[in-house]
Amino acid sequence: MGARETRLAVMTSRAERYDAVVTRREQLSPHLVRLGLSVPGLVSTGIPDEWVGLVVPGQFQVRYYTVRSLDGDDLVLDVVIHEVGLVTEWASGDCVGDRVVVRAPQGSYSLPADPAWLLLVGDLTAMPAMARIAETTALPTRIWAEVPDHLPGYLPDDPEVTWLAPPAEGQSRLADVVEGIDWPEGDGYFWMAGESAQMRAIRKHLMRERRLPNTAYAVMGYWRAVRSRQPRAVDPGPIWREGKAAGKTDEEIWAAYDEARGV
Ligand SMILES: Cc1cc2nc3c(=O)[nH]c(=O)nc-3n(C[C@H](O)[C@H](O)[C@H](O)COP(=O)(O)OP(=O)(O)OC[C@H]3O[C@@H](n4cnc5c(N)ncnc54)[C@H](O)[C@@H]3O)c2cc1C
Repeated sequence: MGARETRLAVMTSRAERYDAVVTRREQLSPHLVRLGLSVPGLVSTGIPDEWVGLVVPGQFQVRYYTVRSLDGDDLVLDVVIHEVGLVTEWASGDCVGDRVVVRAPQGSYSLPADPAWLLLVGDLTAMPAMARIAETTALPTRIWAEVPDHLPGYLPDDPEVTWLAPPAEGQSRLADVVEGIDWPEGDGYFWMAGESAQMRAIRKHLMRERRLPNTAYAVMGYWRAVRSRQPRAVDPGPIWREGKAAGKTDEEIWAAYDEARGV
């Protein structure tokens, strides 16, 4: 086995898992529940869109959630409640005291040199990441948030926020929104996450129409619009680590993740 293969094998088999207990549950809005988890040993990457894998009781499938905050052992996740779903059904009930498994965090947000501005676009699943990014950046920031609920105070006051209603439950028109954006002068960073088909359309738009270098944006499919529970959740972790080890760009890695999920 060559050095690179050895490194890959080590990286892909290193699935760091942490035992965790749900310590609190708070309904933030009709579709958003905040969970507090005690996760001894979990360490933040410091990347503001970092996410963890979550395995809920009685399941082996993993779902992915953004680290809204991590203070010592206290991990906060904001979980979207949609019509059906494995974590949706679990988090809709009284899950305080439940034991879950959390996988080590990893992140994608990576600013280019000297950006003049930051644009953030996302749906409700992207709100935890957009809030954390906005809280930690000093760049002039604009946000487009497509959310079904009223979320006063969820985002910091400084950024200019455009609130948009989704066309219907489980649907998104963020691709149209982005195509209509009045782009700021100069070079900056564009970050976007939400429904995968919308994100795929936007990647094409950024590459073909706006001709942005792939260091100037991160566009991530966070969920797939299908009609039932996702039959098979594909773990972005190994795809991410293998892509990084192979020298792929973030865009290539997220496109490979979409492909693995059949988007
Ligand atoms: C890196 C990353 C970070 C993420 N961060 C967060 C986060 O902080 N908070 C969060 O809530 N989600 C986040 N997500 C999205 C979350 O992992 C998915 O929405 C996941 O499918 C939800 O799992 P579930 O078990 O409830 O539903 P599943 O069993 O996976 O899906 C059941 C059904 O619900 C539909 N569905 C799934 N998600 C949504 C949705 N958001 N809106 C409407 N319908 C949906 C599916 O199409 C399917 O029909 C993130 C995803 C990634 C990849």
